[in-house]
Amino acid sequence: MSSSRSSQLDTLLQHTGLAEFDPQTGAAPVAIPSMRTSTVRFKSLAHLDRAHQALMAGKRSPVYGRGGMDTHAALEQVFCELENGERTYLVPSGMAAIVLGISAFVQHGDHVVVTDSAYAPVRAYDSGLAKRMGVEISYVAPDVESVKAAIKPNTKVLYMESPGSLLMEMLDTPALVQVARDHGLVSVMDNTWGSGYAYRPLDLGVQVSVVAGTKYVAGHSDLLLGAVVTNDAALIPALNEVHYAMGYSVSADDVWLALRGVRTLPIRMRECAANALQLSEFLATLPQVKRIFHPALSSDPGHALWKRDALGSNGMLAFTLDVPAETARRFVDKLNLFGIGFSWGGFESLVQYVDHSTVAPHSYWNNDTLSLIRMHTGLENIEDLIADVKQALSAALAG
Ligand SMILES: *Cc1c(COP(=O)(O)O)cnc(C)c1O
Repeated sequence: MSSSRSSQLDTLLQHTGLAEFDPQTGAAPVAIPSMRTSTVRFKSLAHLDRAHQALMAGKRSPVYGRGGMDTHAALEQVFCELENGERTYLVPSGMAAIVLGISAFVQHGDHVVVTDSAYAPVRAYDSGLAKRMGVEISYVAPDVESVKAAIKPNTKVLYMESPGSLLMEMLDTPALVQVARDHGLVSVMDNTWGSGYAYRPLDLGVQVSVVAGTKYVAGHSDLLLGAVVTNDAALIPALNEVHYAMGYSVSADDVWLALRGVRTLPIRMRECAANALQLSEFLATLPQVKRIFHPALSSDPGHALWKRDALGSNGMLAFTLDVPAETARRFVDKLNLFGIGFSWGGFESLVQYVDHSTVAPHSYWNNDTLSLIRMHTGLENIEDLIADVKQALSAALAG
């Protein structure tokens, strides 16, 4: 694990996307203001023509409000730093980023291979919109042999998520990328787990990284936002076209909040990760806990891959409870510091009782019949979080 890259990011994140000095006064606020606009106004037709030509040449160039002005450009720059990319497209949610990241590279009659560790709503895209557009999607176990076996002459994209955000299954990303390269597929990865800080797919050879900025980047559970980042110039025309055609646009206020949030991403993510590791170590001492899913934990089957490829960890963990389902549900209800809810990556702890129908399609789950609990540890004191888990489990077992 190279900690130098992530510590350099700590610095870059405090110095990217700041407000420019006023040319007359030489003064500037530190934070860039929220530049709200629908219409971009030009000083002359010549200026407009220049902006339009740059846009037609595939460059980022504000011509109309949908593309966003300086606030958006600053956050795009931050995502490029995080992911080590050349170009970032902002979209209104992580789900929108997934749709852009896949649909930019397929047409009617094409086929996409998706690792079965992927975020569950991808399956909604697959069974609805993608199918109606004549794009076929196959789900496979995220290993080299299964992916190779699923590739057909019309396969165009390999879509992955590492680690998966339900069972935190680490993928051998460099090996999978090699398969994609050998077969001429575009490789796309959901990097919400790593958010460019704990994991950097583009550095591992992936061509397109999609991130739900909703989670750690924004970091405060108060907005939805997605990003698609690439370092491959050859993919930019397709991304430009589909980003424009989909009409994606993000409010400058949400972008501003994400910029504010991302300044503290390193310390938040490190703190959440430390809490998750300590909570995992505590869970390992409980006789009712059978499997713990957290790659930073040395007993996790993906620990060696995590050590090789990741730069850090985060607050996500899951575990199985060998108790009757109603006891497991009672455990969740008895927790005081973990809010019951979807999502993660904010300042607060969350818990989800994962329905077996959601996890069953993941080959890594192995048809386990035990209750699966997923948690996000936030920034609370870890002693308090552990005490809360202890009291909730005792109360649940007592009936
Ligand atoms: C939450 C999430 C998304 C979707 O993000 P939204 O902004 O909620 O649409 C995509 N991928 C992963 C792994 C997520 O956890």
